[in-house]
Amino acid sequence: MNNEMTLSFVAIEENEALARMAMTCFITPLDPTIEEISEFKTIVSEAVTNAILHGYECDGTSIVTVHALIEGNKISMTVSDEGAGIFDVEQAMEPMFTTRPFMERSGMGFTIMESFADNLSVESVIGNGTVVKFEK
Ligand code: ATP
Ligand code: MG
Repeated sequence: MNNEMTLSFVAIEENEALARMAMTCFITPLDPTIEEISEFKTIVSEAVTNAILHGYECDGTSIVTVHALIEGNKISMTVSDEGAGIFDVEQAMEPMFTTRPFMERSGMGFTIMESFADNLSVESVIGNGTVVKFEK
């Protein structure tokens, strides 16, 4: 099956659930296992939360875009923001690294995404934004 979708929404925390649920519906025709659904939801949730929170500080006006493509039984997805950007991507992807320890973040988002996704890549430019891309 081939299919494609784009979802854009403003940066408020509530929209993490919107993205997670929309993406779950989108991949359902592929007949994923419960485990695959759960892993996929987690990746989407972590990436979208990062865009809303770190990219835009939940400003309620800037736009996060999720794009997803199904080709055969392969899913590729990007989560993009045009927000703050990441100073050092390699460091940001290390387990337990967070720039917001005071907000009870554990710094495990990227580590979790990497363990569940195939080919996770992150492109980011300070002041220009971040694109997280993965396959599953
Ligand atoms: P957790 O995900 O465990 O709640 P966290 O979000 O801090 O904590 P990661 O998701 O691994 O941990 O992200 C690590 C760091 O990378 C963040 O603290 C933040 O500084 C930076 N970061 C991640 N995504 C973005 C983004 N979209 N825009 C700007 N900075 C980001
Ligand atoms: Mg995170």
